[in-house]
Amino acid sequence: MNARGLRDDQPIFCLGCKRLFIAEDTILQFRTGFIQGHTPVGCCHGCVSEHKSLNALWISLTTEQPYDCVMHG
Ligand SMILES: [Zn+2]
Repeated sequence: MNARGLRDDQPIFCLGCKRLFIAEDTILQFRTGFIQGHTPVGCCHGCVSEHKSLNALWISLTTEQPYDCVMHG
C-alpha cells in the first residue's frame, strides 16, 4: 500500500489515452471511478497537458478551486 491507499502495482486506467499505467506514472487517480469493477481510473502525465478537461480537473484538485471555475475562468 502507498499513501493513496492503492497497491503499488495496481494499474491505473488513463481516461485520456485509454491505456493502463502503474500508479507512479499517473498524475491523477480518481477515488470514485473504476472500470471493469476494480481498475481505478486516472490520468497519465502526458494526457493531463493534452486534454483540457483533464488538465482543468487536475488544477481543480491541486488548487482546491471549483472545477467549473477552472474550466470557464
Ligand atoms: Zn494518458
